[in-house]
Amino acid sequence: MKKHLVLVGGGHAHLTAIMKLRDYIDKGHRVTLISPSVYHYYSGMGPGMLSGLYEPAEIRFHVRKMAEARGASFMEDPVIRIDPAKRILILQSGTQVRYDVVSFNIGSGIRKDDIALSGGDVFPVKPIENLLRAREYILDVFKNRAAHILVAGGGPAGLEISANVWRLIHENGLTGRLTVLCGGRMLERFPDTARTIALKSLREQGITVLENVSLRSMKNGKATFTDGKTIACDVTFLATGTKPPSIFHESGLATGQDGGLLVNACLQSVSYPEIFGGGDCISLRDHPLPKVGVHAVRENSILYHNLYAMLEGGELMRYKPRKNYLLIFNLGNGRGLLWRQSFVTDGRAAFWLKNYIDRKFMRKYQVSGELDEK
Ligand SMILES: Cc1cc2nc3c(=O)[nH]c(=O)nc-3n(C[C@H](O)[C@H](O)[C@H](O)COP(=O)(O)OP(=O)(O)OC[C@H]3O[C@@H](n4cnc5c(N)ncnc54)[C@H](O)[C@@H]3O)c2cc1C
Repeated sequence: MKKHLVLVGGGHAHLTAIMKLRDYIDKGHRVTLISPSVYHYYSGMGPGMLSGLYEPAEIRFHVRKMAEARGASFMEDPVIRIDPAKRILILQSGTQVRYDVVSFNIGSGIRKDDIALSGGDVFPVKPIENLLRAREYILDVFKNRAAHILVAGGGPAGLEISANVWRLIHENGLTGRLTVLCGGRMLERFPDTARTIALKSLREQGITVLENVSLRSMKNGKATFTDGKTIACDVTFLATGTKPPSIFHESGLATGQDGGLLVNACLQSVSYPEIFGGGDCISLRDHPLPKVGVHAVRENSILYHNLYAMLEGGELMRYKPRKNYLLIFNLGNGRGLLWRQSFVTDGRAAFWLKNYIDRKFMRKYQVSGELDEK
């Protein structure tokens, strides 16, 4: 019997399935991609877009064109609830979509429950589109006055965002003061050598880095820290860590400790075998994964294969996460900070390598004339 495959979110883990949609459609199945936007932005180049190193068109995939060119339908409308018993997705517009097999790749949001926010210009660093809005806002508003900018979060995202805001300010002749609140220590989960390089690089850029202090509240341009200090602040970036969306829990699906869709090694929901997922929105049973794009990208071929096997029959493949992966952070000054297990180095070559890897990844999936939109 011919089936309806629905892909929810055109994120990093779905790119291979979208590229190879014809394999499902040629077997007579119907495929629909549902996403809040026609574009999916590649997070690895997001901070570089914030600073102006990359044009928006260079870092995004036109997932609508990608899907439609391969015979699928596209719906621009986020999924807000799942009725797994009836196999129905409920979209924000109220539209209901029936599925036989569904796969979720809807990413994660930024944790902000502990911060009282009212007024002021606050940009969570996900979705990546927020960085484009922040860039346009800063360039527009601070032509003639100094910008007081705060970055909450001392992890990789906080590091890259602050370094690239610095570049944005300096490349455009703006002035400003930049403060980073690390919560704990800068790059806490990384070796001391990486922490030292990151702190030195930010401080050389004139950025104030405060460790063991978090943002408690941001009210009408006044930021209050957990140590009681306050500063005036025009723009706040929230890079306070990620958490999967609440949709799975709210829809009665089994979730992991972090609230992500609980999946087995085949990236298949432990509650309903016709539900799959990949990337930041899942929680892999017995093996919690860090929320890094590397895993989302490596899950591509497994999801593509397992969705095919669910439609056509066949054995499911297992995702075997490797501990070993490479991360390179963009330090905003033409240099990169490279980390792989216990190996750490920095310099221009590290950034060159990051740029090379990122652009190669983009070339593979930018098949819909994205660069012509510049
Ligand atoms: C600033 C920054 C820099 C980063 N740099 C790196 C890096 O260099 N290397 C690295 O490995 N990791 C990096 N990360 C982590 C990385 O962003 C995530 O791990 C990665 O984006 C996960 O991919 P994903 O496809 O699961 O989610 P996402 O990239 O968030 O994609 C989710 C997709 O789902 C869509 N969607 C969302 N909600 C819905 C809905 N309700 N219905 C339908 N569709 C929906 C979205 O529009 C989006 O297209 C970075 C993160 C940040 C914040």
